[in-house]
Parts: sequence; C-alpha cells; structure tokens
Amino acid sequence: MENDLKNFLKKYHIEYVIAAFISILLIQGSFIFFKGRLIIFLKDYLFWYNLILIFLAFFVFLIAQISYPKIYKFKILLTGYLLIAYYIIFLLITNNMPVNLQVFGMDFNFYQKALEAPGHFALAFLITVFNFNLIFVTYAKPTINYEDGKKYSLFMLIINIIFYLYILFFISGKFIGSKPDIFATKFVFTFNKYYQILNFFILIIAFLLSIYNIEEEHNYGSIIIAISIMCFYCALNADNYWPVKITLPVMAIIIIVGMFAHWLNCLHHKAHYDPLLKIYNRQYMNNIIQGITELRLGKDFSILMCDIDHFKKVNDTYGHEAGDIVLYNVAQTIRNNSLPEGITCRYGGEEIIVFLKNKIDDEAQSHAEKIRKMVKRLKIKARSKTISVTLSIGVAGTEKGITEIAKVIKRADENVYKAKKRGRDRVVCE
Ligand code: GH3
Ligand code: MG
Ligand code: MG
Repeated sequence: MENDLKNFLKKYHIEYVIAAFISILLIQGSFIFFKGRLIIFLKDYLFWYNLILIFLAFFVFLIAQISYPKIYKFKILLTGYLLIAYYIIFLLITNNMPVNLQVFGMDFNFYQKALEAPGHFALAFLITVFNFNLIFVTYAKPTINYEDGKKYSLFMLIINIIFYLYILFFISGKFIGSKPDIFATKFVFTFNKYYQILNFFILIIAFLLSIYNIEEEHNYGSIIIAISIMCFYCALNADNYWPVKITLPVMAIIIIVGMFAHWLNCLHHKAHYDPLLKIYNRQYMNNIIQGITELRLGKDFSILMCDIDHFKKVNDTYGHEAGDIVLYNVAQTIRNNSLPEGITCRYGGEEIIVFLKNKIDDEAQSHAEKIRKMVKRLKIKARSKTISVTLSIGVAGTEKGITEIAKVIKRADENVYKAKKRGRDRVVCE
C-alpha cells in the first residue's frame, strides 16, 4: 500500500505540485515580512519587471514551439500559447500606455479600461479565464495530428486574447455615463463575489482530470496542476495584485523547468521504449547490463526470460495484427505483475525479459509462476476473436554464485529451452 502510493506519486511527478506550494509559501511569506519594501521595489523597477516577464513568456513560447516538432506533445504547445496570451493581456491591463491609443475615437488604453471595470474585475477575470483553459490542457490528448495541434493552439491563443479584451471593452464601457447597464453590473458584481470559489472548483476539476489522465513514464498533468494551484493563489490575491505580479514570473520558471524536464523524459522514453509493447526495449536492457542507467540491480537479482508458446501459430491463425495485440497484452501483464521491483524489457520478437531486484531462489520462481498463471488466464480480444496463449519461463538468479548479468541471462535462456522441451507452459529454474 505504501509502495503503491510512492509509485503513484513518482509516476504523477508530484514534485511540481510541491514546488508550487513552496513558491506560494515563499511569496506569501515575503509579503508578510517585506510588504512595503517589495511594492516600492516593484514600482521602482517596473520597466525591468515588464521586460523580464516578456522575456519569460517568450522563452516559454519558444520551448513550446521548438519542442513540438521533436516530441509532438500537443499539451506543451498549447500551454506555451495559452501562457503567452495570459502574459500579454496581463501586461496590457497593468501598464499605462505611454502614448494615448485612440483609434476611430475608441480608447485602446487597456489599463484605463481595466480601471473602469468595477472592483478588481479585470485581473480576476483574466486569472479565471487562464485557469479555465488549464482544464482543456489536462483533458486534451497528449498527441494529436501535427498540423491540427499547431492550428488549435494558435486558435486558442487568438480566441483568448479577443474574448478577454472584448469582455473588458464591453464591461468597462457599460459603467461610464449616467446610467450603468444592469446586466453588466450584475455580471461583474456576481463574478467579483464568486471568482475565488470558481477558481477553486476549476483547480479541483483539473486535478481530478490529471489523476485520470496520467501518462505513463512522463506525466505532464502535475505541471498543469502546479500552474492551476498558483492561479488559485493569484485569484485569492486579485484584489491586491502585487502578489500576483510576483507569482507570474515564478510560475513561468516552474513551467520552463517542467517543459524541459518533460521534453528530456519524452526523448529518453522514445530512445528506450518499445512503441508496440510499451515496455523497455533491447537498448535499455543493454544499458542495464552495462550499468549505464540509473537502475542498479544490486547484489541479489534474478532474471526471468519469458517466451510465448507457439506464437507463430497465433500469427498464422489470426494474422499478424492480432499477433501484435496478443503480444502487447502479454507484455503489459508481465510488466504490471512485476512492478515495482521488476523491470520488463523486450528481449527479442516475442521474448520478454524481467530483471527482478532483490528476489532470488523460491521468491523468483514463485514470481515467475504468478506471471505464467496470469498470462494463461488472459482472454485477449482481437478481431472479434478471443485468443489465449501460454508462456515458457526460464529463471536464473545470482544465488548460484554467478553475478555477471550476461551469464545469468544465458542460464535463463537455457532454462527456457528446457521448458520448451518439457512441454511448454511451465517455469524452469535450474
Ligand atoms: P515456441 O516458442 O513455443 O517454440 O514457438 P514459437 O512459434 O513462438 O517459435 P518462435 O519463437 O521461433 O517464433 C516466434 C514468432 O514470433 C516468429 C515471428 O513471426 C513472431 N513475431 C516476432 N515478433 C513479432 C511481432 O512484433 N509481432 C507479431 N505479430 N509477431 C511477431
Ligand atoms: Mg521465441
Ligand atoms: Mg515462442
């Protein structure tokens, strides 16, 4: 149970959520202790602040843009586009334009417009719109058609800016003149009253979706949740927007780190994963053998060599495509029954190897028996047929005094051969 939780947190990449909480604590703490000085500092260096924010937003945008053709992660691209929309609008509504922007008699000074909207509507609404977008990001598929991904992200960027500025214009205009618009007044005051709760619900929905949508080996959802938590913090402080000002650059930095880490993870994943079986590939196995991965087998370990029985017949009877589905299901069963102490790799065509840490002798044998039984029990649906297969498993461990991995593998291989000769569907451990 404890292990399950640990695995889950690791898989979820909880570190981003923790980073968000720590950042918020630091920001809030610095406001409690140095409030006056921080505000004076921000006012004095407003130009530099704006420049840094523009730079960070541009950097996020750049990473999103460059990583997309390399790893095709639509979620990263979308985050980059949404963030730039958010920061552009933020800069527009918090900075008085140095020139008077009059176009066709309309005042395009967004700072003035933001001031005209009652309460802190302008900022609160911006935070909420951005946060709401994050639900889409957690819900979205990690990879979609390449061109669609580009179009959709650009569409979201433009729609966000137009929608937001339109609302701001619409709302602010309604409060000028002798009689304010009733609908606009109601909308703004209701929104001002409930936006904090609204942001909290958005965070919860995004969180649940992110739990539901965890991506194996390189989850991105926790990065989005970290941002959503920071948005919620911004929403709590929208009436005093200095903490928001500090939060935005910190948020950008968390996103930048998250995007880079995610990018590297995806590349690692691509190089070391078998795309069909969704387990580690031969390359990764070689890295384990040579000791050049993070994974260390330690002193006591066993190796399980699994080979599907009469797999050629499955291909011949049901077709290669059905064979692929069977192979995938068998691989996943082996993997799921071996985690966390067993690392599963594709050894060859339909041969799967498991590196079992800290288990030798009887323990390794009973682990192999469990896998054999689980696979035998499988009823795999492929092309409206139900297919069952069996496994022959050769087990070898370090208990016989041989600690060199290559030699242990060789013994496991010989044991598979024996299992086949003795009639298949069995575990041999000699
Ligand atoms: P046994 O191991 O019980 O002796 O019999 P087998 O039929 O499994 O024998 P063998 O190991 O020689 O054959 C493996 C077959 O697996 C041959 C190949 O067509 C098939 N195979 C290998 N890789 C794939 C794959 O990625 N997809 C599919 N569908 N078939 C594969
Ligand atoms: Mg074989
Ligand atoms: Mg076989």
